Amino acid sequence: MSSDVFGEVVGQAAAVAVCRAAVAAAAAGPGGAGPAMTHAWLFTGPPGSGRSVAARALAAALECESGGCGSCTSCRTVRAGTHADMRAVIPEGLSIRVDEMRAVVSRAAMRPATGRWQIVLIEDADRLTEGAANALLKSIEEPPPHTVFLLCAPSTHPDDVPVTIRSRCRVVNLVTPSVDEIAEVLEQRDGVAPELARWAASVCAGHVGRARALAGSETSRDHRATVLAVPGAVRTLADVFAEADALLDVAKKESAEQSERRDETEREELRIALGAGGTGKGAAAATRGSAGALKDLEKQQKARATRTVRDVLDRALVDLSGFYRDVIVYASGASAALINPDVARDVHVAASRIGAEGALRRLDAVLACRVALERNVKPDIAIEALMMQLRVA
Ligand SMILES: [Zn+2]
Repeated sequence: MSSDVFGEVVGQAAAVAVCRAAVAAAAAGPGGAGPAMTHAWLFTGPPGSGRSVAARALAAALECESGGCGSCTSCRTVRAGTHADMRAVIPEGLSIRVDEMRAVVSRAAMRPATGRWQIVLIEDADRLTEGAANALLKSIEEPPPHTVFLLCAPSTHPDDVPVTIRSRCRVVNLVTPSVDEIAEVLEQRDGVAPELARWAASVCAGHVGRARALAGSETSRDHRATVLAVPGAVRTLADVFAEADALLDVAKKESAEQSERRDETEREELRIALGAGGTGKGAAAATRGSAGALKDLEKQQKARATRTVRDVLDRALVDLSGFYRDVIVYASGASAALINPDVARDVHVAASRIGAEGALRRLDAVLACRVALERNVKPDIAIEALMMQLRVA
């Protein structure tokens, strides 16, 4: 398995081939861009297929002198999000605002400071407001010669990216990676034991990141087990509150662990990117500069931690909806594979108790709870309300 930046892009041979061709063309062509190179890209794919991972890999490969070696400063800084010539736009709320986009677009017009390209990465391009889309459109229509736009959007809602923008992008479609491909990457790249790798790949519903989290963290595995036990456990009113408490507790625990792990990785990557630990003339100045950068990073991490609990709860709700989806599949005699094959027995029991119709009602309740959390309803209130509806009297 390749160790370059595209090795991270799991189960997407066709997309990677397109990207590699573009990188080669960009390196060879006059002025840095041959016919296979495009200034605007749109990565689409189902949730978990790795849209932003693929976009970042292409960004690193474009900035890298060796087409994405994975180990040089360019590759590392692109990955750490600290490359001077790359801006990542990641929506904090429900939409990407126009002033945010204007600032990014005007920076993108400048010549690259250190790299070969000015790169703008827009995650969730389906969340552009109309104004933001227009601000971006002008720049995509007549891109500055050294600027590349990388947009990502879920393929489940292709119409959410305005057609004026879509029509000017080269679209790269990602697919859901297979269980084998995910298991292989967990084993070969992450060093996960074969049995655990296969199990994680089989229950992740095609989400590489999810498989990685399950394989890498016992807390994540415990959390999933707690969540999947909920449908069978909520029978009395006392159960409702007990299960809600358990779910909230375990979500807090998992989000704390996640933040800690991610924060430390980012700090380490930033240190490497800033060349900490170096000696010689520039090292002292670099150390002074890096103290400020570290402080900024810690501030960002703090803001993110408050969001993480909600994200972890949302993850739990996705697991729950997977369970009820499995109940519907089983109860209606469909031949589709279960999302949670390892708890097939519980799925069968639930199917006999509530049937496809009961499962469908509960699935709706889970989805409504996700919406409530996204609208900032307090987590304990949203989760308790959900448990009432999941109850099997
Ligand atoms: Zn490199």
